[in-house]
Amino acid sequence: MRTSKLISVVVPAHNEEGNISELTNHIIELFSSIDYDYELIFVDDGSEDNTLNEIKLNARLHSNVYFVELSRNFGKDYALKAGLALAKGNAVITIDADMQHPPQLIKKMLNYWEDGFDVVYTYRETANRHARFYQRITSKLFYKVINTLSDIKLENGIADYRLIDAKVVKQLRELDESEIFFRGIVKWVGFKQIGFPYTPSKRHTGNASYSFFKLLKFAIGNIMAFSARPLYVAAGIGLGFAALAILYFPYILISYLAGYAVPGWASIIASIEFLGGMQLFLLSVIGIYVGKIFVQSKNRPSYIIRSTNLIGSHEELNYP
Ligand code: UDP
Ligand code: MG
Repeated sequence: MRTSKLISVVVPAHNEEGNISELTNHIIELFSSIDYDYELIFVDDGSEDNTLNEIKLNARLHSNVYFVELSRNFGKDYALKAGLALAKGNAVITIDADMQHPPQLIKKMLNYWEDGFDVVYTYRETANRHARFYQRITSKLFYKVINTLSDIKLENGIADYRLIDAKVVKQLRELDESEIFFRGIVKWVGFKQIGFPYTPSKRHTGNASYSFFKLLKFAIGNIMAFSARPLYVAAGIGLGFAALAILYFPYILISYLAGYAVPGWASIIASIEFLGGMQLFLLSVIGIYVGKIFVQSKNRPSYIIRSTNLIGSHEELNYP
């Protein structure tokens, strides 16, 4: 019996030429064993290797495989956003192209979905054995900071491997933010959510696209895009130091009146440098936010599609 529910599987892919066919075959095999229709949408995020051709090859071989080619590398979150904008399913499943997200867990997600959950997300079980040391540390720190600074709680190692019901997808599409952080925003919209841990597999082929500095930029950018609280923290730190300076003033005055001033050049220089540093820090926090307002105010689309076989032509695409 066909349930005739359509599941969209959305895969962001950046330089994944060796993994496209592997994942496609796994997905096809999986869906042949369950009663759902599906569409498999690969979003090529400006790959420099043969990824796009691999996707197109699979799209020719299998009728429900589609490609969306972005005009350049926009980053995973934007590739996901593009995929979500075009997915037609009653539920959308996002999964990495590199086989680190075990495809067989899709069954478990669908079961939760049938039980009435709107979002079924996953997080990496304990430490990610396949991540480098610095990645583990920075990832821990990232979630600590983002959880402290915002109103939502993200599990350590929460992944972009999840099922999202169509009504939640609709809400996500309507968010008018030019900078997005999917893991945060999906939690933020609410609805009935449930998460379960998974053990990541090893990358099938190729290398992770994120270098240390790309990760750092990603972390800072996402924390700031997601919460205005760093501004308050910055203001708090500034106020704290101003208060200290005021408390210090009577001491200076008394020392002066008592006539034992002068020595202490070093401490003066030290505090000037420290305060100078603090000011630069606070200014840069504010600067980053101003920059973000600038980016948003230009109202550029958050991604651009070069080509796709999903609908007639890209002129028809009404991307945000
Ligand atoms: N990815 C992407 N655009 C990018 C970087 C990565 O679409 O700029 C995709 C990549 O092809 C993969 C997923 O995002 O499907 C996760 O990337 P990766 O494996 O490099 O990261 P990690 O496993 O370390 O999270
Ligand atoms: Mg990976």
